[in-house]
Amino acid sequence: MIRLQDITVAYGSRVILNHINLDIRDGETLGILGASGSGKSTILRLIIGLQKPSGGHIFIDGQDITGFTEDEMDQVRLHMGMVFQYSALFDSMSVGENVAFGLRQHRKLPEEEIRKIVREKLHLVGLDHVEDMMPNDLSGGMKKRVSLARAIALEPRVILYDEPTAGLDPLRSMDINRLIVTTQSQLHTTSVIVTHDMESAFFVADRLAYLENGVFRLIADKDTF
Ligand code: ATP
Ligand code: MG
Repeated sequence: MIRLQDITVAYGSRVILNHINLDIRDGETLGILGASGSGKSTILRLIIGLQKPSGGHIFIDGQDITGFTEDEMDQVRLHMGMVFQYSALFDSMSVGENVAFGLRQHRKLPEEEIRKIVREKLHLVGLDHVEDMMPNDLSGGMKKRVSLARAIALEPRVILYDEPTAGLDPLRSMDINRLIVTTQSQLHTTSVIVTHDMESAFFVADRLAYLENGVFRLIADKDTF
């Protein structure tokens, strides 16, 4: 379980998150909605340790990660995948190398095994025979798929998605949403999805939270629909 306990984030006198409490349950998909600038991406950055809160604590499986060093955080991040709001693919590396990046850093595997995993993950996101292409030769929707393949390469327990359908037309958005659900059911991950898009949120999420003026409100729970 991921627990945000009494979390505050402020820049000078500007309070972005105001004493937030939130439990993200194992295996659930939590959707986070909110206006631009409300602090949605901040929440993901806190969970993956790219940012420290001004106050409060973050627990992962009961362990307080708030004071973790970068090295300790690297260990935690091994179990997390993130699909960023803006394409974070390396433009100078092939699609296959982008997906293989974490594997090469963290797993000592024979080359053949790495290639097999890369093909398997690309296949899962509906992309075959693209390993040797360069990211810039792909459409926006395909880049998102590659980002997803990369995020799941190490089979993380937690996946964080920041606006996975931003900039995509309704059909491509739905493809990505479907993929998120498929990934979830195949890898049994805990997922947090930040989005502007209510329809996407309803499609993918078990519970929905709305972030406004630094405060979280749970607005929907599929168990109680
Ligand atoms: P969007 O929907 O536009 O992606 P968001 O909800 O993801 O917005 P965040 O990126 O979490 O918003 O940022 C929350 C607020 O914090 C924004 O108003 C932003 O301007 C502010 N902010 C973020 N980083 C900094 C920083 N380093 N210094 C000052 N203000 C910051
Ligand atoms: Mg954002």
